[in-house]
Amino acid sequence: MARAYNFNAGPAAIPLEVLQQAQEQFVDYHGAGMSIMEMSHRSALYEDVNNEAQSLMRELFGIPNNYKVMFLQGGASTQFAMLPMNLLREGQPAAYVHTGAWADKAIKEAKLIGETVIAASTADDKFMRVPSLSEIVVPANASYLHLTSNETIGGTQFQEFPDTGNIPLIADMSSDILSRPVDVSKFGVIYAGAQKNLGPSGVTVVIMREDLAQGSPKSIPAMFRYETHAKAKSLYNTPPSFSVYMVSLVLKWIKAKGGVAQMEQYNRDKTKLIYDAIDGSGGFYKGCADAKSRSVMNITFRLGSEELENQFVKESEQQGFVGLKGHRDVGGLRASTYNAVPLESCQALAQFMKDFQQRNG
Ligand code: PMP
Repeated sequence: MARAYNFNAGPAAIPLEVLQQAQEQFVDYHGAGMSIMEMSHRSALYEDVNNEAQSLMRELFGIPNNYKVMFLQGGASTQFAMLPMNLLREGQPAAYVHTGAWADKAIKEAKLIGETVIAASTADDKFMRVPSLSEIVVPANASYLHLTSNETIGGTQFQEFPDTGNIPLIADMSSDILSRPVDVSKFGVIYAGAQKNLGPSGVTVVIMREDLAQGSPKSIPAMFRYETHAKAKSLYNTPPSFSVYMVSLVLKWIKAKGGVAQMEQYNRDKTKLIYDAIDGSGGFYKGCADAKSRSVMNITFRLGSEELENQFVKESEQQGFVGLKGHRDVGGLRASTYNAVPLESCQALAQFMKDFQQRNG
């Protein structure tokens, strides 16, 4: 069986062991005579899956007891709207750190709901860096501060997070959740679509301090209230059961690999191979992000011309690489190296880059 060198940005690689386990359990889950997709979400078997996914998430990410873990639908994009709907208060602006395309989408949605201020922006640097903590200015009466921990398109990542005191800090961790240890207690809310580091698309993890999951304006419909999902343990309505099940398998896989600290080391080792190929190329490859803001999840780089970039993509595809074309908004090249991307794929890519340079340099 040939598995591609999968550098897709999302949906992205899922560990082979997880896929094989899901395959084994696919037709007959635990002797139920049916797959997980065919059983009631109120059944004991599915409740176990839901509980296990939640408790593994808590264990692996070190989530304190006063936080809720919710599995919602609608992707991270729905969170862009739900967060201000629930947490933006009259006369208390929502503050946003503007670091690229995803932060931009979050800001646009918040503006529809209420007053929004930009606490820091790196637009002048074409989003090729994240701001230093001292650049982030949050109004004292802000409803919350929102940032994007990893900008999937630009390839930048926060290495440290601001201390916002009583103002809830909210992070879109869609593209780096569980790739490194994080002090969850610094955050009011962390959210992430599953399709990069957690499994397949279809489910969005929302980790929310309990007090924030209460007291939403009464005008918000039930499905858009955090309180609804927090109270119902994510079983208010029919959940994306297969996706949650897959997430539970991915979480078990992370645990078996030694946990999140181990993942971080593994990810750094993988990424180093590719950044070294860029930095050692004498300018043939140019990294897009500023060195200090470089992402360990999405490596963005360019070649001397678009023509050469197209050739790089074409030849890489012929050799079994997938997903190396940069996002259509920014062009260039991008390798996404999420948790499930094996070291061997990164070794192969680094070698391909060196060979390509030799042929074309
Ligand atoms: N935020 C970030 C950082 C992302 O990378 C993405 C998806 N690429 C999104 C939000 C949007 O996620 P979804 O497609 O799950 O709505």
